[in-house]
Amino acid sequence: MLNNSALLLFGPPGSGKGTQAVLLSEALKVPHISTGDIFRQHVKDGTELGKQVQAIMQSGALVPDELVNRIVEDRLAQPDCAHGFILDGYPRTLPQAKMLDEMLDRLGKSKVVVNLLVDYNIIVARLAARRQCPVCGASYNLVFNPPKKDMVCDRDGAALIQREDDKEEVIRNRFEAYNAQTLPVMDFFRQAGYRLVEVTGGNGAPEELTAVIRARLNG
Ligand code: AMP
Ligand code: ZN
Repeated sequence: MLNNSALLLFGPPGSGKGTQAVLLSEALKVPHISTGDIFRQHVKDGTELGKQVQAIMQSGALVPDELVNRIVEDRLAQPDCAHGFILDGYPRTLPQAKMLDEMLDRLGKSKVVVNLLVDYNIIVARLAARRQCPVCGASYNLVFNPPKKDMVCDRDGAALIQREDDKEEVIRNRFEAYNAQTLPVMDFFRQAGYRLVEVTGGNGAPEELTAVIRARLNG
């Protein structure tokens, strides 16, 4: 049962978190909150925050906790989050996890973590083949989840682009950030007694994995 839950999607870069977050959000009818998407929108719009985070994101490093925590706090206060939500790409550090934990207690949300386990070699191949729609943000993979028409978005026909931080030299930095700063968050979840659902992904259609996750969540 998921009513009034915070569903935290956890996994390395390229594990398919974002795709699962979108599919689960549609199925469970709760908002999907991706801190990466929020930052990319700020960069695109050229806001003050966008200017602050642009160079950091391009290097594959993490944005400072204060900035991330502030946007999440604002977002979770919106009315559409009242009955639950899915977080994708947050928390990514221990201080973020601790601040979120307090916030969820305050909001009276139950805490569920979905940990996506994916083989490293699959991940690297995936990131290199990942493309995004610059208009609606839809995510594709030229190998695992291609658009219907070559290199254009199914929804709006825009030409797909590669994220700056999906280039090979940046991918390595993102993995370093994940191993050093984000993996310890999993220990925090375990110690704090979060409900944990672990699934192996990366070897089938995204919709199949969503079905597995939903069955495990209901089981
Ligand atoms: P993502 O799309 O989740 O891979 O995020 C893209 C980039 O945005 C990351 O490489 C970070 O630079 C930044 N970012 C997104 N979420 C966070 C977070 N929770 N903490 C710190 N930086 C973040
Ligand atoms: Zn699109």
